[in-house]
Amino acid sequence: MRVAVSNIGVIVSGDWRDPFVPGDTVIMQDGKVTSVGTASAGAVESCDVVIDAGGTTAIPGLIDSHVHVTFGDYTPRQHTIGFLESYVQGGTTTAISASEVHVPGRPNDPAGVKALAIAASKCFQHYRPGGMHVHAGSVILEPGLNQADFADLAASGVWLAKAGFGAVETPYDYVPLVAAAKGAGLVTTCHTGGASIPGSSAITADHLLAMRPHVSFHINGGPTAMPDRDFERVIVESEIALQVCTAGNLRTTLLCARLAQQHDAFDRFIIGTDTPTGSGIMPLGMLYTIAHLASLTDMAPERSICAATGNNAGVYRLQCGLMAAEKDADLVLIDAPEGGTQTSALAAIKHGDIAAIGAVIANGEPRFVGRSRNTPPTMRKVRVAACRLARDFSTPRH
Ligand SMILES: [Zn+2]
Repeated sequence: MRVAVSNIGVIVSGDWRDPFVPGDTVIMQDGKVTSVGTASAGAVESCDVVIDAGGTTAIPGLIDSHVHVTFGDYTPRQHTIGFLESYVQGGTTTAISASEVHVPGRPNDPAGVKALAIAASKCFQHYRPGGMHVHAGSVILEPGLNQADFADLAASGVWLAKAGFGAVETPYDYVPLVAAAKGAGLVTTCHTGGASIPGSSAITADHLLAMRPHVSFHINGGPTAMPDRDFERVIVESEIALQVCTAGNLRTTLLCARLAQQHDAFDRFIIGTDTPTGSGIMPLGMLYTIAHLASLTDMAPERSICAATGNNAGVYRLQCGLMAAEKDADLVLIDAPEGGTQTSALAAIKHGDIAAIGAVIANGEPRFVGRSRNTPPTMRKVRVAACRLARDFSTPRH
């Protein structure tokens, strides 16, 4: 499928160092972006689908780097079916599993956690709920896993590992496990802050600096924050990525954002939701954290969008998250919400309103054009201008 999005008002690149791409058109083919900026009338007209963005803002599809998937589009934690498809309506086109800890009766022996990670990884390789790309299968680090186990996991396609929910005596027991997982090439992540489930203990800067995972999960607290003085230590004394999550402590999210910029560590400042959990299911969680960062700190709105897109892609080595040729064709059209005081998506976000979504394209296919089920309507009208396929991508505007 070849898709053109024309008449775009502003294109946000996803790269915070160079956050805008000049021009008004993006062309995608077979799941990849082919051009960003300008395109000839012929190139646009030859597409199977042409979407008139109506002057709205194009951003890369959001990457939620902390989602608790289990199997299928179901979360046992909140007994809900279809939550991932609903997140697509909030602009999230990629979800990264924060480990499948919510599988009822989940195992905690080495063979069991390996099987769980491999099964989750393989199931989501062929399943895209609502078009979302789900990177699942984050092996829960448990005592007894050894180098051969991590080599097996890597050979089976598992590339994520999570410390924090294992049956360890102290968090320092994760040090050799994280090192072994890293040795096998896995991206390692670690729960941060107070215990979120009974039996686990608080993880603070001393533990993170001993473990050195790639990512500090919900560094702002999941949901309980570590001491304020620890943030600067993690930023200055390590290269650990700083993940802030919607379902966490907002005050420390803002603290971490200020410190990351002050210490030139913004490349590793990333956003996730840490949902579904006890805090609920949040299809608009990414949009809320983007708006919180832009409206409650001096962060530019395009920069907070980059923390949810290009920065996540960089830390997790993904091919999405940037509006550039050859990247994954995940694109979201956003605008100021109807009925608000602002007249553009970026101004609305800076004002603290969430952006309204007018279209989502995931893996090169329009998932809806016109109106998100979950956001307010866009001020400007996004519509299908031409379609050669026997399909209707439009949603009624009401
Ligand atoms: Zn979590």
